[in-house]
Amino acid sequence: MEHAKPLPGYLVQRFHGWRATTWTENKAWYRRLADDGQHPRAMVISCCDSRVHVTSIFGADAGEFFIHRNIANLVPEFKPDGTYHGTSATVEYAVMALKVAHIVVLGHSNCGGVRGCHDMCSGQAPELEEHTSFIGRWMDILRPGYARVVDIEDKAERLLALEKEAVVISLENLMTYPFVRAAVEAEDLSLHGLWTSTKNALLEEFDADKQTFVPL
Ligand SMILES: [Zn+2]
Repeated sequence: MEHAKPLPGYLVQRFHGWRATTWTENKAWYRRLADDGQHPRAMVISCCDSRVHVTSIFGADAGEFFIHRNIANLVPEFKPDGTYHGTSATVEYAVMALKVAHIVVLGHSNCGGVRGCHDMCSGQAPELEEHTSFIGRWMDILRPGYARVVDIEDKAERLLALEKEAVVISLENLMTYPFVRAAVEAEDLSLHGLWTSTKNALLEEFDADKQTFVPL
C-alpha cells in the first residue's frame, strides 16, 4: 500500500497534547480499561455528521459508550444473508458480547442523509435511485418513513418528521433481531430514541405512550 501519507502536523500536535494532559491525568483509568476490558453500559447509534457530538453532550469518558455511526443513524432489518453488515455486527456485539443495558438511537437536525432520502423518494434525486448508489441503497431503510410523512405540506416540517422517523424505524428494526427482542423481553436491555437539534442544543425523546417526541 503506497498511498498512505504522514498524518497532518496539526493532528500529531493534538495527539501529543492529549497524551500530555487528559491521558496523563487519567492514566490509571485508561490502563484499567485496557487491562480489564470495556464494560460500556450503553450503545449509541448516531449519524456520521461531524456536528453530532454524542460524547460531548452526555459528558462521556472513554469506556462509557459503545458507539456506532452511520449515515442517518439507521439500523437495517435483521437479514442474515451472509454478506457485509457493519451496523448489524455492532448491534450483535453490543448485545451478545458486551451485554449493554441500553441502546440509544440518536437522530439530529439538518441531517444530510435524511434530506437525501427525502429527495430520492420525492423524485428530486434520481442518481440516488441508481442500483450502484451506496447512499441511495442505504437510505432505502428509511423509505417506509417517507411514506408516513409525505402528506406534511411544509418541507421543513416534513424533513424534521423524517429525521424522527429515522429514529423510530431504527428502533422498530432493532426489535427484528432475535437477540435484541429476547434481551428486551427479559428486561436486560432497553431501547431509547432521541433527536437532537445541534443548532439550539435541544434534546427530544421518543415517548412510546404518546407515540411522539417530547423535549427533555
Ligand atoms: Zn445526519
